[in-house]
Amino acid sequence: MEKAAGATEHDLGTAAVELLGELIQIDTVNPPGNEAPAQELLADLLSGAGFDCELLAAEPGRPNMIARLRGEATGPRLCLIGHVDTVTADPADWSFDPWAGDVADGEVLGRGAQDMKGQVAAQVAAAVELGRSGWRPERGDLLIVTLADEETGGELGARWLCETHPEKLEPDYVVNEGGGIVFEAAGARFYPLCVAEKGIMRFKLRTSGRAGHASVPGLGDNALLKLAPIISRLAAQPPIEPTPEGVAFRDRFVELLGDAVRPVGLEHGAMETLDAAMRELGLVPRALPRVERIETETWGEHLRKIRDGRLSWTWRVREEDRLRAVEEVWAWGEARFGDLDAPRPVSMPIRLRAYDVAG
Ligand SMILES: [Zn+2]
Repeated sequence: MEKAAGATEHDLGTAAVELLGELIQIDTVNPPGNEAPAQELLADLLSGAGFDCELLAAEPGRPNMIARLRGEATGPRLCLIGHVDTVTADPADWSFDPWAGDVADGEVLGRGAQDMKGQVAAQVAAAVELGRSGWRPERGDLLIVTLADEETGGELGARWLCETHPEKLEPDYVVNEGGGIVFEAAGARFYPLCVAEKGIMRFKLRTSGRAGHASVPGLGDNALLKLAPIISRLAAQPPIEPTPEGVAFRDRFVELLGDAVRPVGLEHGAMETLDAAMRELGLVPRALPRVERIETETWGEHLRKIRDGRLSWTWRVREEDRLRAVEEVWAWGEARFGDLDAPRPVSMPIRLRAYDVAG
């Protein structure tokens, strides 16, 4: 197997790449999951490095794995969490074997490489290295938790584990997936990190009044009408507040990309600029899996290739969705750049919006 560029410089990177290859070779498409061989592989590695490992299963063949490295004194628990199941893959739609785990052009290829066997392999390789070196937390425990059944809702994974064995987890800090997928721009590699998340607040509004009669409207006090001004006030959203992390990311991003993003206007607020800069690079918000790098081609050439089916698609997407995605990106690009055949100055990862992706 060819080694990933960059990883060979460090044994740790090599270990992570090799482990990722092994994990990809274990088919854990969920359903049915069959996560046991992957979990046993991870538990063996971590046990050998001094972790206490437990496999806890809601159903035979589908265990979750908890590995604990105890600290020398009690203290907060840091939990690195991941899942070993993946979404499906139909090899007929892939230009390479989804379960070979091969390395090409410095990237490990396969179903689950990004979501999320890559992070699992990196976390476990790092934890194994730490454990083998004799390192132990000064205070508190380090937990490595790999879940089954994440892709279809976590009934046998996170949910079951939290409901059935809450005492085995109880972390003070959790690191999970979700920040975004690594991307390259202007020769730099970006690792997005999610530092906050929008939440949901549900509440009930109740207004009260007094029943009247249609013949004497003035006697009534209509409770429904009291809701109207309250509901209309909900339409006025507070302004987006830039966070220090968002501002730092925006500034560094803009600095690295230089002229490539300047046309979008630095006079905007942090989030607007960042949003525009991301879209300038073709990172369409809400987009799904395909990332295609434009190195030397113009946008126009590239989109034509996708439209005409001259670029292979590595996930299953319906024909009309492919065309719709191309049309949408085309229209967006034209509105923004005018001439799509004008050369763009930076290497642009472009992620097309796709609908109803099954792969
Ligand atoms: Zn995931």
